[in-house]
Amino acid sequence: MRTLREVGALRTAVAEWKRAGDSVAVVPTMGALHDGHLSLVAAARGAADRVIATIFVNPRQFDNPEDLAKYPRTEDGDAAMLLNGGVDILFAPAPEVVYPAGFATSVSVSGLSDVLEGAHRPGHFDGMATVVTKLLLMTGADLALFGEKDWQQLQIVERLVTDLNIPTRIIGCPTIREADGLAMSSRNRRLAPGDRARAGALYRAIAQAADRIGAGEAADTALAEAREALVRAGFTAIDYLDCRDAADLQPMVRADRPGRVLAAAWIGGVRLIDNVAVNAG
Ligand code: AMP
Repeated sequence: MRTLREVGALRTAVAEWKRAGDSVAVVPTMGALHDGHLSLVAAARGAADRVIATIFVNPRQFDNPEDLAKYPRTEDGDAAMLLNGGVDILFAPAPEVVYPAGFATSVSVSGLSDVLEGAHRPGHFDGMATVVTKLLLMTGADLALFGEKDWQQLQIVERLVTDLNIPTRIIGCPTIREADGLAMSSRNRRLAPGDRARAGALYRAIAQAADRIGAGEAADTALAEAREALVRAGFTAIDYLDCRDAADLQPMVRADRPGRVLAAAWIGGVRLIDNVAVNAG
């Protein structure tokens, strides 16, 4: 595995692969890798001849400077995991490489970016959409893999590649969870042991709500009980816990089409997000 930090070197390497007829997949990450990220790498390995993983803690998608400063940075350990996972190139550019002096362009996906996470984290999805667009264009990848863990992000990325005619196929991969259901996340390592022990309640609450809505119950009552369960479990605030159309993310009151229960909630000063499918019938 080669670690590259400049766009020119990355393009040269990818051009060589393409000349040889190899297909290329990219797995964009912010590092602090766990088994969720590695499942994307494994899916990439199975779907393409060559795999690029990127590590870039994108300053533009942090609405809160403290959150950016606290974001874990563990590149040496990450590189060892990616090497083990069969990655060919780790692309880990410095912020000045991605945003050189004079950088003035932003990619903004309206509608999908305004709700849920977008309503609580102003600018977050514009920052994400801008950097993902850049990473897809820098790598020229045929495939890009994203986790369903960040369901809204996945819908926005699918929208932007369609709207901007970016010839990269987007593949969504299932959420990898701890034994108690907690979705793996780089933020989990910030949880104190007592909060970590309680955090599995988030998945249990949304999974139960999704089952009940799927079985025909009105979304309102199932969601209200899920919110109560979170408070009982020790969550201190709920940014949202909603049932939405899986594709356009508009509110859904009953399971008459594919849906998703999505939540963001705080425990021990850590903000966790998760989502599960609502399957009618
Ligand atoms: P991040 O480093 O948090 O920006 O995540 C990089 C990619 O890994 C995104 O596509 C995430 O959706 C995905 N990802 C993060 N956690 C998980 C997980 N528990 N299971 C599957 N994919 C994940």
